[in-house]
Amino acid sequence: MNMKNVILSEKNIPLYGEYDVVVVGGGTAGAVAAISAGRENLKTLVIEQFGSLGGSQTNALVHPIMPSFIKGNPITSSICSDIHKRMVEIGAAVNDDGPRDRFFDPNGFFNGTQLKVVLETMALEVGCKLLYHTRLIDVIKENNRIEYIVIHNKNGLSAVKAKTYIDCTGDADLAYISGVPCNSGDTNGVNSSMTLRFEMANVDMEKLSDYLIAGGQTEFIHYPTLHVDDFGWCPEFRRFVLEKHHLGELTHHDICHLQFFSIPGKPKSLSFNCPELGNGKNLIDADNLSKKQTEGKIAIKRITDFMKKYIPGFENAYISQIAPMLGLRETRRIEAEYIFNETDVFNYRKFADGIASNNFFIDVHGEDNSNRDKGYVDLPEEQKYYEVPYRSIVPKGIDNLLVAGRCAGLSFYGEATVRVQRTCRAMGEAAGIAAALAIAEDIPFRDVDGREVKKIMCLRGAEL
Ligand SMILES: Cc1cc2nc3c(=O)[nH]c(=O)nc-3n(C[C@H](O)[C@H](O)[C@H](O)COP(=O)(O)OP(=O)(O)OC[C@H]3O[C@@H](n4cnc5c(N)ncnc54)[C@H](O)[C@@H]3O)c2cc1C
Repeated sequence: MNMKNVILSEKNIPLYGEYDVVVVGGGTAGAVAAISAGRENLKTLVIEQFGSLGGSQTNALVHPIMPSFIKGNPITSSICSDIHKRMVEIGAAVNDDGPRDRFFDPNGFFNGTQLKVVLETMALEVGCKLLYHTRLIDVIKENNRIEYIVIHNKNGLSAVKAKTYIDCTGDADLAYISGVPCNSGDTNGVNSSMTLRFEMANVDMEKLSDYLIAGGQTEFIHYPTLHVDDFGWCPEFRRFVLEKHHLGELTHHDICHLQFFSIPGKPKSLSFNCPELGNGKNLIDADNLSKKQTEGKIAIKRITDFMKKYIPGFENAYISQIAPMLGLRETRRIEAEYIFNETDVFNYRKFADGIASNNFFIDVHGEDNSNRDKGYVDLPEEQKYYEVPYRSIVPKGIDNLLVAGRCAGLSFYGEATVRVQRTCRAMGEAAGIAAALAIAEDIPFRDVDGREVKKIMCLRGAEL
């Protein structure tokens, strides 16, 4: 095909509004960044391409939220805790006071549909303006500052002006088009695998539980409303799935993470963490995303047919949701003032400007993770965690931009642990606080004292 470029002529476009802070991408980090900025009384606008907040948590159907695996289970973000409290109040999450030494913290299970309502309520309560069905498409810069962003929605093109911007697009869209250098993938540019998640309803949970227990599963099915399984945790299910895989009924990618989790407030429903759709270079290429959406739906049909045909409890179950958004684990990551990396993870490194703490393992999908627990230093249990420094959300080269969430300044393997929702939320909370400090002192983000950001996070309730 003969590819040609076309010239887009200059256009006179309306100014949508002026704000203290514009958060681009109202997802896991972005919703919290907006609530955080709102709590600092900043005039805040959220630009979001879907019609709800939550991003991967709500529109890619990614639940549960992982525990931090830090001994004592400290609060890593006060807003994260507030969200959990609100979710529990409406039956959309669980409050279980049991021990926290299990792989899955029951308190991590949540209802993504209800989370949309909770996040929106919390953002509106603190005065945030939400502009849905709108995509960021360009920037207008002056020297090292973003003066305007250009957005597109059904009204056409318009511009938004802000004193500060927070990129929470997951893919560093705003940073990338602003000229911030970005990395993507491992040393060969290969991104971690993506997944198209789905839910099934009308599952007979008692029957499924009986099958899993009879099949040798001893963990994760002790709660009256929670039935959790992982491919590896029920020996009989694992054996049976492998047998059928060898016979060609399920593909390698179908069975990669054939896990299902219960959903508080949806009693007979399960959330599936599959099918994986493979790793590869530049996964966010639009043609590739479209192809993966189609492949994903075909795989979902195959997996659900399999469950209905063979697994007790699924006889009358049906697909109730397919995620509108692909589950992307790792794509663009910015060059930041500090690149948080695997050495920091292995050394349980703490920083004076640490704004997010975690002890989740390095979890790359699409490659062998078996060496992931081999490099750690030996420390007392309560010190086994790392912190992500404020400098890792400060991009190189732009004065009034922060980047929070999985696209922050993280190495490939650093990202593979930091990417979980708890740390993304903590980075979002820190970004909202830093925006208030930068505006109050009229300084670039790189001059904001990260120790002050950490202090304010702690005053709000974080146990960093
Ligand atoms: C399959 C899968 C399973 C996972 N399992 C777990 C798990 O069990 N527990 C856990 O804690 N974590 C898990 N994770 C990791 C975690 O869910 C994500 O890394 C995290 O939610 C990403 O948060 P984020 O804020 O960076 O991005 P997102 O939450 O994805 O938010 C990005 C937002 O930006 C919006 N956006 C993007 N581009 C634009 C644009 N140009 N204009 C306007 N809006 C835009 C998107 O619509 C979205 O709302 C999983 C991830 C995947 C993919």
